[in-house]
Amino acid sequence: MAKFVLIGSGLAGGLLAAYLGRRGHDVDLYERRADPREGNIVGGRSINLAISTRGIHALEKIGIADDALRHAIPMRGRMIHDKSGALHFAPYDVDPKKCIYSIGRAALNATVIEAAQCYSNVRVQFNHTCTDIDIHSAIAHFETGSCAVTARSDAVIGVDGAFSAVRKSMRSQIANFQYDENYLAHGYKELTVPPAPDGSWQMEKNALHIWPRKSFMMIALPNPDGSFTCTLFWEFEGPRSFATTKKKTDVRRFFEEEFPDAVPLMPTLLDDFRNNPTGSLVTIRCAPWFYRDKVCLVGDAAHAVVPFYGQGMNAAFEDCVVLDHCLQKFSVNRERAFAEYFHDRKENADALADLAIGNFIEMRDKTASKAFRAKKKIDHALEAALPGIYFPLYTMVTFTRIPYSAAARRARLQDLVLYTAVIIFLLIAILMVAILIRRS
Ligand SMILES: Cc1cc2nc3c(=O)[nH]c(=O)nc-3n(C[C@H](O)[C@H](O)[C@H](O)COP(=O)(O)OP(=O)(O)OC[C@H]3O[C@@H](n4cnc5c(N)ncnc54)[C@H](O)[C@@H]3O)c2cc1C
Repeated sequence: MAKFVLIGSGLAGGLLAAYLGRRGHDVDLYERRADPREGNIVGGRSINLAISTRGIHALEKIGIADDALRHAIPMRGRMIHDKSGALHFAPYDVDPKKCIYSIGRAALNATVIEAAQCYSNVRVQFNHTCTDIDIHSAIAHFETGSCAVTARSDAVIGVDGAFSAVRKSMRSQIANFQYDENYLAHGYKELTVPPAPDGSWQMEKNALHIWPRKSFMMIALPNPDGSFTCTLFWEFEGPRSFATTKKKTDVRRFFEEEFPDAVPLMPTLLDDFRNNPTGSLVTIRCAPWFYRDKVCLVGDAAHAVVPFYGQGMNAAFEDCVVLDHCLQKFSVNRERAFAEYFHDRKENADALADLAIGNFIEMRDKTASKAFRAKKKIDHALEAALPGIYFPLYTMVTFTRIPYSAAARRARLQDLVLYTAVIIFLLIAILMVAILIRRS
């Protein structure tokens, strides 16, 4: 069995360590932060996330889905808040049982790390920051306190997120390593709607709330303690933006104008706005994701995407399933396993990156429109009328494990057929009206 060094015990790192540990590999998992179970979790990152079919499947395969989902909250659709405070609920699927779940990042991170630690061949070291990898010999260098530490292995796997140190080492040591990073002009800030005095949720609990405002938006996901975590996605720069809205009076005015129904539910709004960091949103594409049989990238380290499809973690978990499968299939040829994993996932990661950007426009702009809501109703009607034949794109991405690239292709084809049918129908209708007019 091989010895792996994994860099990063975030969501995918913990899960991958569990998968590799189950196969009997020797695994050393290094994390730059302190143990998240000691309460010091992921400053500046989303407090909760939406998990759906792909992520749940990856947890099921290692037997921890029930445990992870114990406190998760089902969200059955989008609750759209317009400026007048009116609410419109749009279910995610024609089947009301299909839902996504709001899950706490800290609890999920603890669950996957504990799953890895069930295997005596997996060891986890916190407070170890990877500084560099020698990709030719799979040696990883760390700083821990004032000490430098070195770890030798058969292969290093970079599960160290969007700003991966492993990827940085690959960039500097692999000729022609392809790399592209693309920052959105929007940043994000997390805010809070606390529980009501009796501990209940102050808005509909089983929904993902959206305040779409064309060029920007706010969303809110429920937490098990009765609160909601809101995230404002807003331009960094511009006449009305994070840059120009700093004074308390300006912040309050902006929220009262744009999200009037939310303001009374946010007693700590001004403090949250001032104290919470403004995060950036990046899409990262790179290739290759591996170097010989020595180094491999998984999760955000390989393919960070913007969060608007709620799929970054789901895709990272799906990576773990595919890599585990490839390592088993090509157990005597790790380079082949890494190569197969890369070829399977790269096209899908690229497709997801495009879908995620597209969904930002859909969420912040189109969800507010009647035409969008009508299209969703047509989608659901067609799905019900043509079961197993017609799948809306959102359904394929969220409630199936159809590869992202195949889902995107199929949705384009479905739209083409649908729009062609509508045009033909309209042409026939116009023709018939013309014939009737002529006869009369
Ligand atoms: C605002 C926001 C909302 C999101 N919402 C969703 C959602 O609803 N659904 C969804 O599926 N996805 C969502 N995502 C995406 C999701 O957070 C990521 O895709 C997911 O966390 C990727 O997991 P990962 O393990 O690859 O990386 P991470 O979770 O980032 O883990 C990387 C780990 O590596 C560690 N690390 C980093 N550098 C080093 C180093 N040099 N040495 C040692 N350790 C290191 C980090 O401390 C961290 O623990 C969201 C992202 C954002 C920003």
